[in-house]
Amino acid sequence: MEHSLRVLVRIDTKSSTACVEVRGCLAAETCLDLFDILRNTASLGAHVTVNLSKAHHLDASALDELLVLADKIPSVPLGTGHTTVSIQLPARLPACGHAASPEQGPPLTNDQAFDMAFLQRDPKAFRRLS
Ligand SMILES: [Zn+2]
Repeated sequence: MEHSLRVLVRIDTKSSTACVEVRGCLAAETCLDLFDILRNTASLGAHVTVNLSKAHHLDASALDELLVLADKIPSVPLGTGHTTVSIQLPARLPACGHAASPEQGPPLTNDQAFDMAFLQRDPKAFRRLS
C-alpha cells in the first residue's frame, strides 16, 4: 500500500502568508513532494506555515528530512524582511494503516480472514485486511 500526500494550501495575499495544511501521509516517499509544494508556495512571496497537526500519518524520519529541507527553501524579499517557513507539529506522530507494524504479524489467508470476520466476528480481521 502506498502513502498518499494530501495538502490544503491557503494563501492570504493581504498578509503575505500561506498555510500548508497536511492531511495525508508525510512519509519517505511523499517528503520531496511536500518540499516542492512548500518551495513553490514560498516563491510566491509568502511566509509559509506548515500545519502538520491534521496529518493522517507522520513518519519520524520523513519529518526529520522535512525539517532539514525546510531550511533549504530560498527566502524571498518581502516588505521589511524575508519570507520564512515555520512548521507546526502535533504532540505525537500519527501512523496510518499502511505503516509498518511489527506486532501485525503475517497476512491472513482468505480462510483465516473469513473465519475471523464472519464466524468469530473478530475486529482484528478487518484491521488486517484494510
Ligand atoms: Zn501513511
